[in-house]
Amino acid sequence: MSTLARAPESPPSIVVIGGGITGLTAAYRLQSLAREHAFPLAVRLLESSDRLGGKIRTARVDAFTVEEGPDIFLARKPAGVNLCRELGLEGRLRPTNPDHRGSLILRDGELFPLPEGLSAMIPTRLKPFLRSPLLSPWGKIRMGADWLLPARSGEADESVASFFSRRLGRELYEKIVDPLLGGLYGGSGDVLSLKATFPHLRALEREHGSLLRGLLARRGATRQSGGAFVTLEGGMEELTATLERTLTGVRVTTGAPVRSLSPRASGFSVVTDHDRYEADAVLLATPAYVSGALVAPFDDALARDLGSIRYGSTVTLSLAYRLRDVPRPLDAYGYIIPRSEGRPVLACTWSSTKIPGRAPEGMALLRVFLGRSDDYETAGRPDHALLALAREELRATLGITAEPLFHHLRRWERAMPLYTLGHPERLARIAGRLSAHPGLFLAGAAFHGVGIPDCIRDGETKAGGAFAFVRALAASTHAS
Ligand SMILES: Cc1cc2nc3c(=O)[nH]c(=O)nc-3n(C[C@H](O)[C@H](O)[C@H](O)COP(=O)(O)OP(=O)(O)OC[C@H]3O[C@@H](n4cnc5c(N)ncnc54)[C@H](O)[C@@H]3O)c2cc1C
Repeated sequence: MSTLARAPESPPSIVVIGGGITGLTAAYRLQSLAREHAFPLAVRLLESSDRLGGKIRTARVDAFTVEEGPDIFLARKPAGVNLCRELGLEGRLRPTNPDHRGSLILRDGELFPLPEGLSAMIPTRLKPFLRSPLLSPWGKIRMGADWLLPARSGEADESVASFFSRRLGRELYEKIVDPLLGGLYGGSGDVLSLKATFPHLRALEREHGSLLRGLLARRGATRQSGGAFVTLEGGMEELTATLERTLTGVRVTTGAPVRSLSPRASGFSVVTDHDRYEADAVLLATPAYVSGALVAPFDDALARDLGSIRYGSTVTLSLAYRLRDVPRPLDAYGYIIPRSEGRPVLACTWSSTKIPGRAPEGMALLRVFLGRSDDYETAGRPDHALLALAREELRATLGITAEPLFHHLRRWERAMPLYTLGHPERLARIAGRLSAHPGLFLAGAAFHGVGIPDCIRDGETKAGGAFAFVRALAASTHAS
């Protein structure tokens, strides 16, 4: 094992651990800040697997572009689009298909359109809900009761399921909100914290006395800000591959799982299988359970809080067909399946409709999501069993009986952090514990948002914090 201790004359150093979108963005931002301020800084990025990108993985199969993880990101949260611009990727951004917007939802084995006007799960129009066949007359009356029900007082958190059921009724929650939550947060609303996921909806209730009144009042603002999703021409991996190429001032090592992290009199020692690095600051951009295990030897309370962030698992299985073998027109982004339908599949994205260019002319690319966050049994089945489940789903709902041209499977074990009840308090405790470890920073999907723009923003913010920390350290060392 070689010891790369920092000699007094060598520049301040920061080690970023984890090369997903968060760690890549953090490393990139550190490189930019160092250049901008002409500040000599050694930045190192350590990634355990043999590739960078983390959950972002795009495969090319024949002339198909297959997303194994994320396929789009929200343009309304500016960090994602801004980073693409900065990297010269603006011309590569593509909106989702404007001609077949919207998703369908399965009810009693039949597909119905989701009520229009939903933007990232927030209803922005009421009439489509009132007209939707997805809700019974009683469900609609119960939804309207929100207008009259008093707002809940107090600051206490509640589950997403409790909030929507309380305001708009259990039926609307179960038939529309819960299935959508699976796609956004990978978990059931019964365990998700409202404060951590949709704090603005609680604010609307408090401000306007009713959720519906609040949504109507902000309708103009919502329409203006839009809710469009975008992707990159070559797939989401174009973003991480470009970041990787741009990191010319960062020493990047893949195949280097960090095994231990220990605080020193000043800074930290970071140990991989083959090397030891001394760093003035460390930015952990690993899943919370990995970060928790790394801090456990020196901060049990911090480790416990990080380790208590639950993760959901899922499987994505993409299947390619000739369009003529698909009896139903693929005229939407796909469909979601409420848990009440009792199926092991939670959603099917019609990738070739949602994102033009993902499949060659005359072909269809479908992506099936298997295994809900609380259904570990399904996600753990062997490949052939998952393929059989997916094909049965496509037969039952879309009438597809043909053999797929190919299928492409990716298992995502403990991949989606769940912001369960108590998440905001947990984050506050984590922030409190970090103040005992100057130079240690935590970023990533586990904290302030699971979407790509959230991860990018968190990576940038924490990189800014780490940079300010080492600059101040350098200034104080110089002065003394
Ligand atoms: C199936 C799926 C679909 C999704 N769809 C969307 C979508 O459409 N839009 C959207 O905005 N978001 C989506 N998300 C969420 C989004 O992709 C993730 O939240 C985000 O990519 C997480 O990035 P990250 O860098 O924080 O974590 P990761 O991507 O998990 O990166 C962490 C990195 O740390 C590395 N690592 C782990 N342990 C160690 C160690 N000991 N030493 C060194 N390195 C280590 C890992 O190998 C990994 O590369 C989806 C997620 C999944 C799983």
